[in-house]
Amino acid sequence: MRGRPGQSGVESALWECSLFEEHGFRDIKISVKHNDPVVMVNAYRQLAAQCDYPLHLGVTEAGPAFQGTIKSAVAFGALLSEGIGDTIRVSLSAPPAEEVKVGLQILESLNLRPRRLEIVSCPSCGRAQVDVYKLADEVTAGLEGMEVPLRVAVMGCVVNGPGEAREADLGVASGNGKGQIFVKGEVIKTVPESKIVETLIEEAMKIAAGLESEGVVPGAPDVVVG
Ligand code: SF4
Repeated sequence: MRGRPGQSGVESALWECSLFEEHGFRDIKISVKHNDPVVMVNAYRQLAAQCDYPLHLGVTEAGPAFQGTIKSAVAFGALLSEGIGDTIRVSLSAPPAEEVKVGLQILESLNLRPRRLEIVSCPSCGRAQVDVYKLADEVTAGLEGMEVPLRVAVMGCVVNGPGEAREADLGVASGNGKGQIFVKGEVIKTVPESKIVETLIEEAMKIAAGLESEGVVPGAPDVVVG
């Protein structure tokens, strides 16, 4: 059931619940979606304080992909981290597959779902000796669809890069036209800059094959569409 947003939405949702309850029907889930994440978060907090019914979270008409992703992540992040919310609906002016990807990423970021591919890439700075943005994009595209949990660090220099690269399952610290490739904390080889992406993808596939043979695969998606 859906109430109107804000305070009146909360009151209206609870009033509608009471009508069902009068007839002994309690198999109810409540949604008070709103396009303003602040209004939406407040409404769900009030509902959670006043009833025990499961809650379906949504920021409605959240907008184009960039804006809608941020609004949804902010609102769902606040509520889910407080233990409020049982199902979520990401609503973007973008293909439904993108909505599902955003929803899964929000749940993975909150550790409410096992993490799969996670790219840790530096923001680049005056020390960078490689085009970090391009490198991170190419590695992300090359590893898209990876189903096993894998943390890959893409770092732009050999000053601060190795620390982060060492902590990841797989990483590169770039500099002087080369890339130091790390696997599980150890440098396994140094390759020319032109070979960084293909080497990372190759090593990622080896790690993934090992994990898959151990039976490490994430569970089925638990995002509601619609
Ligand atoms: S890893 Fe190096 S290039 Fe990247 S932000 Fe840090 S210092 Fe700058």
